[in-house]
Amino acid sequence: MMPTTDLDGGIENLSVLMQEIKDFLKNGFQGEIQKPQPLIKYYWEASCKADQLIRTVLGENDSFPVDVELLANRMGVRIDIEDLNEFSFLGSMNRIIGQIQIGNNFFTDEKNKTIFVDKTAPFSSRRYAIAHELAHFIMHHDDRDYYEDYCIMPMCPADIEEIVADIFAIFLLIPVRYFFAEFLEYVKCKKEEGKVPVTTESWIRYLAEISMIPDYYVAYGYQQLRYVAYWIYQAWSDGGNLWGNGGNQNVMSDNDKEQVKNETKNYYTEEMGELLFD
Ligand SMILES: [Zn+2]
Repeated sequence: MMPTTDLDGGIENLSVLMQEIKDFLKNGFQGEIQKPQPLIKYYWEASCKADQLIRTVLGENDSFPVDVELLANRMGVRIDIEDLNEFSFLGSMNRIIGQIQIGNNFFTDEKNKTIFVDKTAPFSSRRYAIAHELAHFIMHHDDRDYYEDYCIMPMCPADIEEIVADIFAIFLLIPVRYFFAEFLEYVKCKKEEGKVPVTTESWIRYLAEISMIPDYYVAYGYQQLRYVAYWIYQAWSDGGNLWGNGGNQNVMSDNDKEQVKNETKNYYTEEMGELLFD
């Protein structure tokens, strides 16, 4: 199903959603996330926001690989492929693979929103760079001017915004609903083929292939996907484990459970609960 568009040719509710995500990305990571539980809940919320954005902009029935270029275009961002390292000096230890520029055109005063990607960078790295820059775009879409580079080898983050952009980028490229569906297929397939036990390495490599991003980023983001999976499982499992000490009762509030169930009811199945969790 194609997303509905309003008279301006824009996507309905997109600007409201963008503002919501901006507030979440800008402020969400500064709360009291010292305990594991709020951190897990933060990842869950980030995954929901990414999912909402994808469903709003690309439609409900999209699948791997997420078309980040189309996503950007429909959010009003141009993608431009250029040589971003033309002027870097010989022996430069790093290379720029993505760059976002927001600013008013000097002559027309029209707002220019462009993500540049490096033409020499591998396709999968460019996709990651676009998703990363899109997270910055959301956080700065109403700034008058904004500029940021993403490098092939990101140095250690000096700014919390870099961490947040990476978290959000992973959920844009590996939406949790696609992750569950693919994981279930993968496990069933390996069982049928008798190729068990499965290894994390082969599964991560496979996930990188179908999501079309470098292995490194999948490995980086895998832990946050696991946190979200745990949160979803807690919402659906009926408390009480083998030892009868109440399972999820102390972990999640009823409100949280309801919210998670509501968001995941269209794709989370009993079979996933049985096969994908230990
Ligand atoms: Zn960045």
